[in-house]
Amino acid sequence: MTILLVEDDDILAFALEKALTKSGYVVCHASDGNSARQLWQHHLPDLVLLDLGLPQRDGLSLLQLMRQEGMTTPVMILTARDGLDDRVTGLDGGADDYLIKPFAIDELFARIRALLRRSPASHPRLQFSDLIWDPQTRTAYIQGEILALTPREAQILEAMLTNPRRSISKERLIALFNSWDKNPGTNAVEVTVFRLRRKLADFGISIETVRSFGYALRMQDDTTFP
Ligand code: CA
Repeated sequence: MTILLVEDDDILAFALEKALTKSGYVVCHASDGNSARQLWQHHLPDLVLLDLGLPQRDGLSLLQLMRQEGMTTPVMILTARDGLDDRVTGLDGGADDYLIKPFAIDELFARIRALLRRSPASHPRLQFSDLIWDPQTRTAYIQGEILALTPREAQILEAMLTNPRRSISKERLIALFNSWDKNPGTNAVEVTVFRLRRKLADFGISIETVRSFGYALRMQDDTTFP
């Protein structure tokens, strides 16, 4: 599960990111409203933790914009503002829950789990032949066994399986990596695809390079491609 953490207080953000990562969530962090919007669009997170007072674009305006753009991601507002008006405005603006700072980490986790349980239908398992991706647990299975993947390999596999044609442009993968990792290196995508390709090869699945586009999943014995 990927959580987008939008928080401009570096100390709080660091502590939350550490606690969430330790609990098995994949966290991407934005410290202003505009980069939060970009990460939201690129990562399609399962949940957003949203501070309201942010540089560049405040949390409420970001939330309204993302809802207008059709993003249905569950959103929990985290803010020190404890006025009733702010709560009502936040919920009217499309938030699903509201937590007042300071809060106990256990309460945050309980509310995260509750929010994620409410939207299971939006995270169906993805499948290609014997390969299954479970977005709830961010686990890949092949022929019923867990396929061990690095976070980057998982990101690529999920992106490919999310596309109905099981293909993805290289540009989109580079954008994913850039927002995930500040310095991914120019050939990070090629290296990761190479490793993922080796892991899948034993199971009859290949990742084809599609010239001037990117990559596509196919069965090794399928000759009808593209
Ligand atoms: Ca703030």
